[in-house]
Amino acid sequence: MAETSAIEWTDSTFNPWIGCTKISPACDHCYAEALMDKRHGRVKWGGERSRTSESNWQQPRRWQKQAAAFFAEHGRRQRVFCSSLADVFDNQVPTEWRDDLWALIRDTPALDWQLLTKRPQNIGKMLPAFWDEVRGHVWLGTTVEDQQRADMNIPHLLRHDAAVRFISVEPMLGPIDLEAARPAENIRVFGFPVVDVLRGCHMHAPYGIRPRSKPGKAKVNWVIAGGESGPEARPSHPDWFRSLRDQCAAAGVPFLFKQWGEWGDTGPIISASGPLFHQFENGAWVQRYGKKANGRLLDNVEHNGFPEASP
Ligand code: SF4
Repeated sequence: MAETSAIEWTDSTFNPWIGCTKISPACDHCYAEALMDKRHGRVKWGGERSRTSESNWQQPRRWQKQAAAFFAEHGRRQRVFCSSLADVFDNQVPTEWRDDLWALIRDTPALDWQLLTKRPQNIGKMLPAFWDEVRGHVWLGTTVEDQQRADMNIPHLLRHDAAVRFISVEPMLGPIDLEAARPAENIRVFGFPVVDVLRGCHMHAPYGIRPRSKPGKAKVNWVIAGGESGPEARPSHPDWFRSLRDQCAAAGVPFLFKQWGEWGDTGPIISASGPLFHQFENGAWVQRYGKKANGRLLDNVEHNGFPEASP
């Protein structure tokens, strides 16, 4: 599909199929549905998925052949975001399609494949038998829009070894404490009720004071965050972003702030009214300036953290 992508955290996008079903609050204003169903009528959202053309499937093979030139130009490997218009770990997709995708990933070891899912509970049963061969160039990620989704999704992610494990907090719909996630009993990490997923360890009670276990490998290596765009965009509290930024900095985990989205920080204002303003319970205001005007600066800093590249 796209040779180059406008998404800040990738170079190119590839969609093996198009279509999906909404499963999470982050899906409410699904960009892919707006584009491929409502605008182009290409697929019915929630209905049958549509496999993309054979020539589209050839694209990553072309990137593989051009990998040396990409590396010479950029000084690093090409990143490919797989499934911006679908979900790789969707259980309503024919198994053969995903088998073909895994074969394609195996045949393109010079690319860093970024697989971002809202269905991390399916990862384990959908990885290929040859996962050990490909995991060195696969970045596995899951979306966590609030604390509930962080507690639910991250433990599933941490069960699998990959070149990078990442989370996308976009759209951010609530505050998130990654240093004290509380997985449900059946998906506990290291068997403990409260874990610091940025360091890979469990916490002393009272929680949050300091790690009890030694920091380990099973942790999140990269955090992406952003607000929502589009006509019905929901506001994110600026302090939610700040807190994520600070948690990542303290743990030494790279942080990428993708965008504010429609709503931006007003700073302290005394009172405002109308649809262009929103006030949070703690009194903070955001204003609907628009995605372009808001840009990507968080407290005047552009955050473009990336994890270390695969070998
Ligand atoms: S998982 Fe992604 S593609 Fe699927 S409905 Fe949700 S936002 Fe859209």
